[in-house]
Amino acid sequence: MAVYHDAKCRLCRREGMKLFLKATRCNTDKCAMERRGYAPGEHGKSRRVKETNYGQQLREKQKARRIYGILERQFRGYFAKAATSKGVTGETLLQMLESRIDNVVFRLGFAPNRASARQLVRHGHVKVNGRKVDIPSYLLNVGDEIAIRDKSRQLGVVQNSLESRKGQSAPEWLELNPESVSGRVLSIPTRASIPVPVNEQLIVELYSK
Ligand code: SF4
Repeated sequence: MAVYHDAKCRLCRREGMKLFLKATRCNTDKCAMERRGYAPGEHGKSRRVKETNYGQQLREKQKARRIYGILERQFRGYFAKAATSKGVTGETLLQMLESRIDNVVFRLGFAPNRASARQLVRHGHVKVNGRKVDIPSYLLNVGDEIAIRDKSRQLGVVQNSLESRKGQSAPEWLELNPESVSGRVLSIPTRASIPVPVNEQLIVELYSK
């Protein structure tokens, strides 16, 4: 699966807000949004475009894609599935994105950001219910147990991430066991427990045209 490899900070600057795509840097004054909080490119500083309805919808969709690190085609696929599922389409879309294994590895604190989490999965360091899963888009279900493989627990990226998140609890829909570097999906996340600054209704409107 293709992924976006360009400079992450440009994506935050394009959206005009911190998307926290890196790790500790995002909370320091080295953050590009602190230093150059305007759109990237030659005319980024001076450009003032009045946003249309369509523009707002597009920005919300791009923001969601960029937060979860998903390309357009796959994102559309999630939307198509969400639209045919029971429930509120926008909320279902976010629930699916949250249930991706790379996102859960990040939410449990085993990786400092989703890009690192995706790499851990892809390199075979993660197990689900005792079996290796190396597909970052794998969707977890309620009751699934996720763990970093025994021989991978001492990886610097895992240890540093756990250390930096020490004292922080996992989201309420996940159970975290830091000693065994494992966790469990307790429930489907509600919209209130998904801390992403996205107006999912605008995404639904965009794709429903
Ligand atoms: Fe975004 Fe700032 Fe983190 Fe770069 S450092 S990814 S601009 S939040």
